[in-house]
Amino acid sequence: MDSHRTVKKLGLKATPKRIAILEILSEEFVYLCPEEIWRKLQTRFKRIGLPTVYRNLEELSQGGVIIKIIHPDRKLYYYYCHNTNHHHHFVCISCRKVQDLEFCGEEQIIKEVEDTLKGKVVSHLFQVYGFCRECSHGNAIFT
Ligand SMILES: [Zn+2]
Ligand SMILES: [Zn+2]
Ligand SMILES: [Zn+2]
Repeated sequence: MDSHRTVKKLGLKATPKRIAILEILSEEFVYLCPEEIWRKLQTRFKRIGLPTVYRNLEELSQGGVIIKIIHPDRKLYYYYCHNTNHHHHFVCISCRKVQDLEFCGEEQIIKEVEDTLKGKVVSHLFQVYGFCRECSHGNAIFT
């Protein structure tokens, strides 16, 4: 995985911090909160501030590679997704695993907005929360 190229593809300058954030997230199979990413970054950038991490995550998440997860615990998390096709996510609230969902109800939503509400859809956000196969079988790994 070429993080340098990925950052540039997002239309951002490939700064060492952005590349490092992308690398940290791409090595994880779970979602991380900004504080966790910040702690990992401190091994390389001793004086990096948390606001810098927040800002970079926000910028990186505009392009669809870094997925923002709005968790039911009301905290924001971030997740790296390699799948560049339009899709949605099934988020495990126990072990933090994220799985791609092929389902997208966009057509039905557009139909309802245009026919019933007489409006126009610009974009949509759709995320599903629950327990993955392992966690729903009673072997919950709380992290
Ligand atoms: Zn799980
Ligand atoms: Zn995905
Ligand atoms: Zn969709």
